[in-house]
Amino acid sequence: MKDIDFLKLVKSNIRSLRPYETKEIPCRVKLDANESPYCIDITPDKKILQRINRYPDPEAVKLKKAISMALKVNSANILLGNGSDELIYYLITAFGGPVLYPIPTFSMYGIISQALGEKNIEIPLNEDFDLDIDNMLAAIKKYNPKLIFLSSPNNPTGNCFSAERILKIIETSKGIVIADEAYQPFSSDKGFLPLLKDYRNLAILRTLSKIGFAGLRVGFLLADKDLINEVNKVRLPFNLNALSQAVALEAFKNKRLIESQIKNITSERERLFEELSRINNVSPYPSEANFILFKTKNADIVFKKLIKNGVLVRNLSSVVKDSLRVTIGTHGENNFFIKALKKSIGGKA
Ligand SMILES: *Cc1c(COP(=O)(O)O)cnc(C)c1O
Repeated sequence: MKDIDFLKLVKSNIRSLRPYETKEIPCRVKLDANESPYCIDITPDKKILQRINRYPDPEAVKLKKAISMALKVNSANILLGNGSDELIYYLITAFGGPVLYPIPTFSMYGIISQALGEKNIEIPLNEDFDLDIDNMLAAIKKYNPKLIFLSSPNNPTGNCFSAERILKIIETSKGIVIADEAYQPFSSDKGFLPLLKDYRNLAILRTLSKIGFAGLRVGFLLADKDLINEVNKVRLPFNLNALSQAVALEAFKNKRLIESQIKNITSERERLFEELSRINNVSPYPSEANFILFKTKNADIVFKKLIKNGVLVRNLSSVVKDSLRVTIGTHGENNFFIKALKKSIGGKA
């Protein structure tokens, strides 16, 4: 066998990367990944399996049509991705860096920038987790970023950024501003879709992942058709498989059901927020998403005790001091979590 050091062989920007954390810790209640606790029973058209020997529709025409109707945007303004992660990859592949984003935020903006060897600029959010507008504008002036990613509601903090500040950034930037609206359906804010026509450098990312279909891997980019055209040049031809296309198409027929599930989740979020506020040494941050970030003493220990007590949350203490992120589950799951948290904090586990 040849003695090859692959670490030496790999590109230098890849060398320091680590594979995305995917270790599954089995737990009775899984509240770590911002998934929906509800599973909608959808059977795709049987015909799909009778032609599974064929490549999928590379343009996903029917699915685009359904999205177009649901969101009232033209099909020419939509690009579909194997999850919005893939669209972030395509955006950075097509336009390159510098890539600017506030922190803490969704980790993929940084990971993908690094994987593609593009410069990334990180500007800390202010103490309210809102955009530090002066520093953002200064960074735009200094680096002239090609892409600016703004997750609003922001993962992991849960708040929306001030619309006024986002607008200021859109107006100042010569590059593209991507409003990542993965959690918009849970927000009281209407998001930036109504402004798409007004700003050519505004792009919006949405996904089916947080509203019940994380397993499908379907995300969409909504933007000016010329922008879509550029990103489409780097898209792999069959990035959305036939089964995902078919199931997603059916999903759009269940709009009412999905909307009622979202209502349940947001009302459970308010209840959970109240419950968390009442626990000593725990303080939740207000959320417009399907998760709550909360501070707790000894977060690392509480995280481990929660696992022992049957609940998996996300440990974010390396990102926001002493904080954990819990996804909103069903009523029963949330009760189970609250009990487990009280036990975990009380010391007995
Ligand atoms: C979960 C998440 C995504 C990824 O969504 P997929 O469509 O599952 O790839 C994108 N952006 C943010 C902010 C997220 O939290």
